[in-house]
Amino acid sequence: ASVSVGSSQDGISTIKLGWFSEISPMWPGEAHSLQVEKVLFQGKSDYQNVMVFQNSAYGKVLVLDGVIQCTERDECAYQEMITHLPLCSIPNPKKVLVIGGGDGGVLREVSRYSSVEQIDICEIDKMVIDVSKQFFPKMAVGYEDPRVNLHVGDGVAFLKDVLEGTYDVIIVDSSDPIGPAQELFEKPFFQLVAKALRPGGVVCTQAESIWLHLHIIEDIGSNCRQIFKGSVNYAWTSVPTYPRQGKWPPVDFRHPVYHIEEDHLNESLGPLKFYNSEIHAAAFCLPSFAKRVIDNK
Ligand code: SAM
Repeated sequence: ASVSVGSSQDGISTIKLGWFSEISPMWPGEAHSLQVEKVLFQGKSDYQNVMVFQNSAYGKVLVLDGVIQCTERDECAYQEMITHLPLCSIPNPKKVLVIGGGDGGVLREVSRYSSVEQIDICEIDKMVIDVSKQFFPKMAVGYEDPRVNLHVGDGVAFLKDVLEGTYDVIIVDSSDPIGPAQELFEKPFFQLVAKALRPGGVVCTQAESIWLHLHIIEDIGSNCRQIFKGSVNYAWTSVPTYPRQGKWPPVDFRHPVYHIEEDHLNESLGPLKFYNSEIHAAAFCLPSFAKRVIDNK
C-alpha cells in the first residue's frame, strides 16, 4: 500500500511497504527512509499535514508536510546546538524569543539558564504544540517553565509588534522554506529580527544544509551581513535524520563566554546529551567546499 503523507506543496513523501520515504523537491534525487512500526497520529492543520510514527531505531518521529522535523533519539543534536550556540555566546541573556519550535525542545534547552527571565515563543501551528505535548513529553516539557509565554501565530506578524531592542537572543527554529516558514528565510524577516534585538543581541536560525542548499545559505548570509553589520557565521551539527543541517549565529563566537554545563537551575532535565564547549568551537569549522562559498562573501 502507498499512502501519500505530503501536502499539496510537496505531495510525494510516502509510506510504502511499511517504510516512510522523505521525498521533496528540496532534495531531488534522494530520499531518507525509516521503517514505520506504527502511525500514531495523522492530521491536517490550517497550515500543514502533521504525522507522528514509531520507528525502532529513532523512536517517535514528527513529520510536517512529509518532512521529518525531529525524532526522540537525535533531537538533542539539533535543539542543544541551535540553543546553546547563541545563548552561550553572550553573558547573562535575559529575554529570549523562539520563532517556530512548536515541539518545545528549544524551550527545554533555554529553560536551563538561570539568567533568563522571559522566554517568548511564537509558533504558527497549535496542532504541532498539542501533538508534541501528547507524543513527545521530553521535548514539550519546555512549556512547563513558568518563564514561557506562548503566542500561537505567524512569526513575521508577531515581530512587527515587538518593541525595538526587546530581545537578547532570537532563535528561529523553523521548518523548511516551503510552506508556512517561507517568509522566515527572507530579507524583510531578518530586518524585523534586527529591530527586535537589543544592540549586541544575537540571532540563530535554522539555515539548511551545506550539502543541499548552499544557495539558500549564501542568500541568508548576504542578507544578514547587510542587515546586522556585525559578524555572521555558519555553524553546523550532525542530525542523522536530516538531509540538511546548519544554523547562523551572527557573531564570531567560537569560544563560548558561558558554560551552560555549570548552570544547575533545571537539573531535573538531566545532563546535556550533545552540546559541550569543544563542540561549540568545532561547529564553526567548515568543509573546504562550503567554506569557500560561505566565507568568501
Ligand atoms: N527542528 C526542525 C527542523 O529543522 O526540521 C524544526 C522543528 S519546529 C517543529 C518548526 C516549526 O516552525 C513548526 O512547528 C512550524 O509549524 C513552525 N513554523 C513554520 N512557519 C512558521 C511561521 N511563519 N511562524 C511561526 N512558526 C512557524
